[in-house]
Amino acid sequence: MSYTYSHVVLVGIDGAGIFFKNAKTPFIRKMFAEGAGTEKGLTVFPTESAQCWGTMLIGVMPEVHGLTMQNITADKYTKRAEHPDIFSLIKKYRPEAKTGSFCHWNDINVGIVDGVEGVVTKRGQDEPLTEKACEYIKAEKPDFLFVHLDSVDDAGHGCGYNTEKYLKQLDIADGYAERIYNAVREAGIADDTLFIVTTDHGGTGGSHGGWSDDEKYVFFVMTGKTVVKGARADMNVISIPAIIAHALGIPADPLWQSSVPDGFFSE
Ligand SMILES: [Zn+2]
Repeated sequence: MSYTYSHVVLVGIDGAGIFFKNAKTPFIRKMFAEGAGTEKGLTVFPTESAQCWGTMLIGVMPEVHGLTMQNITADKYTKRAEHPDIFSLIKKYRPEAKTGSFCHWNDINVGIVDGVEGVVTKRGQDEPLTEKACEYIKAEKPDFLFVHLDSVDDAGHGCGYNTEKYLKQLDIADGYAERIYNAVREAGIADDTLFIVTTDHGGTGGSHGGWSDDEKYVFFVMTGKTVVKGARADMNVISIPAIIAHALGIPADPLWQSSVPDGFFSE
Protein backbone atom coordinates (compact mmCIF):
# COMPACT_ATOMS: atom_id res chain seq x y z
CA MET A 1 0.00 0.00 0.00
CA SER A 2 1.32 3.39 -0.87
CA TYR A 3 0.89 6.32 1.44
CA THR A 4 -2.35 8.25 0.89
CA TYR A 5 -2.24 12.02 1.19
CA SER A 6 -5.23 13.93 2.50
CA HIS A 7 -4.48 16.90 0.25
CA VAL A 8 -2.96 17.75 -3.10
CA VAL A 9 -2.35 21.31 -4.30
CA LEU A 10 -1.41 21.87 -7.95
CA VAL A 11 -0.11 25.32 -8.85
CA GLY A 12 0.18 25.86 -12.61
CA ILE A 13 2.19 28.82 -13.88
CA ASP A 14 1.03 29.21 -17.48
CA GLY A 15 3.73 29.69 -20.10
CA ALA A 16 6.71 29.25 -17.77
CA GLY A 17 8.62 26.61 -19.77
CA ILE A 18 11.95 26.01 -18.06
CA PHE A 19 12.78 29.71 -17.79
CA PHE A 20 12.98 29.54 -13.98
CA LYS A 21 16.62 28.68 -14.68
CA ASN A 22 17.13 32.22 -15.93
CA ALA A 23 15.14 33.87 -13.12
CA LYS A 24 15.61 34.03 -9.36
CA THR A 25 12.54 31.93 -8.43
CA PRO A 26 13.74 31.08 -4.90
CA PHE A 27 10.63 29.08 -4.07
CA ILE A 28 10.78 26.82 -7.14
CA ARG A 29 14.49 26.27 -6.52
CA LYS A 30 13.81 25.38 -2.89
CA MET A 31 11.16 22.90 -4.01
CA PHE A 32 13.66 21.28 -6.40
CA ALA A 33 16.17 21.00 -3.56
CA GLU A 34 13.62 19.35 -1.28
CA GLY A 35 11.48 17.45 -3.77
CA ALA A 36 11.19 15.39 -6.93
CA GLY A 37 10.50 16.36 -10.51
CA THR A 38 12.10 17.35 -13.75
CA GLU A 39 13.90 20.53 -14.69
CA LYS A 40 13.48 19.64 -18.38
CA GLY A 41 10.31 17.67 -18.95
CA LEU A 42 8.11 17.60 -22.02
CA THR A 43 4.69 18.96 -22.65
CA VAL A 44 2.40 17.85 -25.48
CA PHE A 45 1.93 19.17 -29.01
CA PRO A 46 0.68 21.67 -29.93
CA THR A 47 2.03 23.83 -27.13
CA GLU A 48 -1.28 25.62 -26.62
CA SER A 49 -3.00 26.10 -23.28
CA ALA A 50 -6.18 24.17 -24.07
CA GLN A 51 -4.33 21.14 -25.38
CA CYS A 52 -1.70 21.15 -22.62
CA TRP A 53 -3.93 21.85 -19.61
CA GLY A 54 -6.41 19.36 -21.06
CA THR A 55 -3.74 16.67 -21.04
CA MET A 56 -2.50 17.72 -17.58
CA LEU A 57 -6.00 17.41 -16.09
CA ILE A 58 -7.29 14.43 -18.11
CA GLY A 59 -4.23 12.21 -18.64
CA VAL A 60 -4.60 11.54 -22.37
CA MET A 61 -3.05 13.13 -25.44
CA PRO A 62 -4.68 16.17 -27.10
CA GLU A 63 -5.91 14.12 -30.05
CA VAL A 64 -7.78 11.93 -27.55
CA HIS A 65 -9.33 14.60 -25.25
CA GLY A 66 -9.99 16.79 -28.29
CA LEU A 67 -9.83 20.16 -26.50
CA THR A 68 -8.54 23.08 -28.57
CA MET A 69 -8.35 26.83 -28.10
CA GLN A 70 -11.32 27.10 -30.44
CA ASN A 71 -13.67 24.56 -28.85
CA ILE A 72 -12.80 24.54 -25.13
CA THR A 73 -15.43 27.06 -24.10
CA ALA A 74 -17.72 26.74 -27.11
CA ASP A 75 -18.24 22.97 -26.97
CA LYS A 76 -16.90 22.23 -23.48
CA TYR A 77 -15.32 18.88 -22.64
CA THR A 78 -17.38 16.16 -24.33
CA LYS A 79 -15.46 12.94 -23.53
CA ARG A 80 -15.79 12.88 -19.75
CA ALA A 81 -17.59 9.51 -19.74
CA GLU A 82 -14.75 7.72 -21.55
CA HIS A 83 -11.85 9.86 -20.34
CA PRO A 84 -12.62 11.36 -16.94
CA ASP A 85 -10.74 14.44 -15.80
CA ILE A 86 -9.01 14.35 -12.41
CA PHE A 87 -11.85 16.27 -10.71
CA SER A 88 -14.38 13.65 -11.85
CA LEU A 89 -12.19 10.83 -10.60
CA ILE A 90 -11.77 12.45 -7.22
CA LYS A 91 -15.54 12.94 -7.05
CA LYS A 92 -16.05 9.26 -7.91
CA TYR A 93 -13.63 7.83 -5.34
CA ARG A 94 -13.88 10.50 -2.66
CA PRO A 95 -17.52 11.66 -2.93
CA GLU A 96 -17.16 13.96 0.09
CA ALA A 97 -13.95 15.53 -1.19
CA LYS A 98 -13.59 19.29 -1.17
CA THR A 99 -12.12 20.35 -4.47
CA GLY A 100 -11.41 23.72 -6.01
CA SER A 101 -10.25 25.15 -9.32
CA PHE A 102 -9.08 28.76 -9.16
CA CYS A 103 -8.14 29.96 -12.63
CA HIS A 104 -6.85 33.16 -14.13
CA TRP A 105 -7.52 31.64 -17.56
CA ASN A 106 -11.13 30.88 -16.81
CA ASP A 107 -11.61 28.82 -20.00
CA ILE A 108 -10.34 25.84 -17.98
CA ASN A 109 -13.23 26.23 -15.56
CA VAL A 110 -15.82 26.94 -18.23
CA GLY A 111 -14.60 24.19 -20.57
CA ILE A 112 -13.60 21.40 -18.18
CA VAL A 113 -14.24 21.93 -14.48
CA ASP A 114 -17.72 23.46 -14.42
CA GLY A 115 -19.05 20.18 -15.82
CA VAL A 116 -18.10 18.37 -12.59
CA GLU A 117 -20.53 18.65 -9.71
CA GLY A 118 -19.33 20.19 -6.48
CA VAL A 119 -16.04 21.79 -7.51
CA VAL A 120 -15.59 25.30 -6.11
CA THR A 121 -14.48 27.49 -9.03
CA LYS A 122 -13.08 31.01 -8.86
CA ARG A 123 -11.57 33.30 -11.45
CA GLY A 124 -9.38 36.37 -11.22
CA GLN A 125 -6.03 37.99 -11.87
CA ASP A 126 -3.07 36.25 -10.25
CA GLU A 127 -2.75 38.47 -7.18
CA PRO A 128 -6.39 38.41 -5.97
CA LEU A 129 -6.71 34.79 -7.10
CA THR A 130 -3.74 33.82 -4.93
CA GLU A 131 -5.38 35.57 -2.00
CA LYS A 132 -8.64 33.71 -2.62
CA ALA A 133 -6.77 30.42 -2.88
CA CYS A 134 -5.00 31.05 0.43
CA GLU A 135 -8.29 31.89 2.16
CA TYR A 136 -9.91 28.79 0.68
CA ILE A 137 -7.07 26.52 1.82
CA LYS A 138 -7.19 27.87 5.35
CA ALA A 139 -10.99 27.76 5.59
CA GLU A 140 -11.70 24.45 3.84
CA LYS A 141 -8.50 22.39 3.84
CA PRO A 142 -9.41 21.01 0.39
CA ASP A 143 -8.62 17.47 -0.78
CA PHE A 144 -7.53 18.90 -4.13
CA LEU A 145 -6.96 22.46 -5.25
CA PHE A 146 -5.82 23.57 -8.70
CA VAL A 147 -4.58 27.14 -9.04
CA HIS A 148 -3.87 28.46 -12.52
CA LEU A 149 -1.71 31.60 -12.75
CA ASP A 150 -1.52 33.43 -16.08
CA SER A 151 0.52 36.60 -15.54
CA VAL A 152 3.74 34.95 -16.76
CA ASP A 153 2.21 33.86 -20.06
CA ASP A 154 0.67 37.32 -20.40
CA ALA A 155 4.13 38.82 -19.97
CA GLY A 156 5.49 36.43 -22.61
CA HIS A 157 2.87 37.43 -25.13
CA GLY A 158 3.26 41.10 -24.26
CA CYS A 159 7.03 41.52 -23.87
CA GLY A 160 8.51 38.27 -25.22
CA TYR A 161 9.37 35.04 -23.41
CA ASN A 162 12.63 34.91 -21.50
CA THR A 163 12.95 38.72 -21.55
CA GLU A 164 13.80 40.77 -18.49
CA LYS A 165 10.16 41.77 -17.89
CA TYR A 166 9.00 38.20 -18.38
CA LEU A 167 11.56 36.82 -15.92
CA LYS A 168 10.57 39.47 -13.40
CA GLN A 169 6.97 38.32 -13.68
CA LEU A 170 8.11 34.73 -13.23
CA ASP A 171 9.75 35.77 -9.95
CA ILE A 172 6.48 37.39 -8.90
CA ALA A 173 4.56 34.20 -9.76
CA ASP A 174 7.14 32.21 -7.79
CA GLY A 175 6.13 34.40 -4.85
CA TYR A 176 2.45 33.57 -5.45
CA ALA A 177 3.26 29.86 -5.36
CA GLU A 178 5.13 30.39 -2.10
CA ARG A 179 2.18 32.27 -0.60
CA ILE A 180 -0.08 29.35 -1.49
CA TYR A 181 2.38 26.96 0.14
CA ASN A 182 2.52 29.13 3.23
CA ALA A 183 -1.28 28.99 3.43
CA VAL A 184 -1.00 25.18 3.41
CA ARG A 185 1.39 25.45 6.35
CA GLU A 186 -0.81 27.93 8.19
CA ALA A 187 -3.77 25.60 7.67
CA GLY A 188 -1.78 22.95 9.51
CA ILE A 189 -1.93 20.45 6.63
CA ALA A 190 1.57 20.77 5.14
CA ASP A 191 2.63 17.41 6.55
CA ASP A 192 -0.16 15.66 4.68
CA THR A 193 -0.13 17.64 1.42
CA LEU A 194 1.47 16.82 -1.91
CA PHE A 195 2.41 20.25 -3.26
CA ILE A 196 3.09 20.57 -7.00
CA VAL A 197 4.28 23.49 -9.11
CA THR A 198 4.46 23.11 -12.89
CA THR A 199 3.61 24.72 -16.22
CA ASP A 200 1.86 23.89 -19.49
CA HIS A 201 4.40 25.12 -22.07
CA GLY A 202 7.03 27.79 -22.66
CA GLY A 203 7.21 30.27 -25.51
CA THR A 204 9.48 31.84 -28.08
CA GLY A 205 9.45 35.42 -29.27
CA GLY A 206 5.96 36.52 -28.27
CA SER A 207 4.04 33.30 -28.83
CA HIS A 208 3.85 29.51 -28.47
CA GLY A 209 2.18 26.60 -30.19
CA GLY A 210 5.19 25.09 -31.96
CA TRP A 211 7.77 22.51 -30.98
CA SER A 212 10.94 24.52 -30.38
CA ASP A 213 12.93 23.76 -27.21
CA ASP A 214 11.71 26.98 -25.59
CA GLU A 215 8.10 25.91 -26.15
CA LYS A 216 8.17 22.15 -25.50
CA TYR A 217 10.33 21.89 -22.36
CA VAL A 218 8.61 22.40 -19.02
CA PHE A 219 9.48 22.05 -15.36
CA PHE A 220 7.58 19.96 -12.83
CA VAL A 221 8.37 19.81 -9.13
CA MET A 222 6.61 18.38 -6.08
CA THR A 223 7.20 18.06 -2.37
CA GLY A 224 5.54 15.90 0.24
CA LYS A 225 6.45 13.58 3.06
CA THR A 226 6.87 10.49 0.86
CA VAL A 227 8.46 12.41 -2.03
CA VAL A 228 12.06 11.34 -2.60
CA LYS A 229 14.30 14.35 -2.08
CA GLY A 230 16.27 15.17 -5.21
CA ALA A 231 14.60 12.50 -7.38
CA ARG A 232 14.61 13.37 -11.07
CA ALA A 233 12.99 11.56 -13.99
CA ASP A 234 12.26 12.16 -17.63
CA MET A 235 8.61 12.93 -17.59
CA ASN A 236 5.79 14.38 -19.63
CA VAL A 237 2.97 16.52 -18.27
CA ILE A 238 0.60 13.69 -19.17
CA SER A 239 1.77 11.98 -15.95
CA ILE A 240 0.32 14.69 -13.72
CA PRO A 241 -3.16 13.18 -13.16
CA ALA A 242 -1.55 9.81 -12.43
CA ILE A 243 0.64 11.45 -9.79
CA ILE A 244 -2.32 13.25 -8.20
CA ALA A 245 -4.45 10.09 -8.18
CA HIS A 246 -1.60 8.03 -6.71
CA ALA A 247 -1.15 10.57 -3.92
CA LEU A 248 -4.87 10.56 -3.10
CA GLY A 249 -5.10 6.75 -3.19
CA ILE A 250 -7.32 6.75 -6.27
CA PRO A 251 -6.86 3.96 -8.83
CA ALA A 252 -5.31 4.97 -12.13
CA ASP A 253 -7.76 5.32 -14.98
CA PRO A 254 -7.24 2.30 -17.29
CA LEU A 255 -7.19 4.52 -20.36
CA TRP A 256 -4.54 6.92 -19.08
CA GLN A 257 -1.60 7.16 -21.42
CA SER A 258 0.76 7.70 -18.52
CA SER A 259 1.83 6.53 -15.08
CA VAL A 260 3.70 7.78 -12.03
CA PRO A 261 7.42 8.22 -12.84
CA ASP A 262 9.62 5.65 -11.09
CA GLY A 263 11.44 6.84 -8.02
CA PHE A 264 9.33 9.89 -7.13
CA PHE A 265 7.66 8.37 -4.06
CA SER A 266 9.36 6.40 -1.30
CA GLU A 267 6.09 4.53 -0.64
ZN1 LIG B 1 -0.73 28.19 -21.64
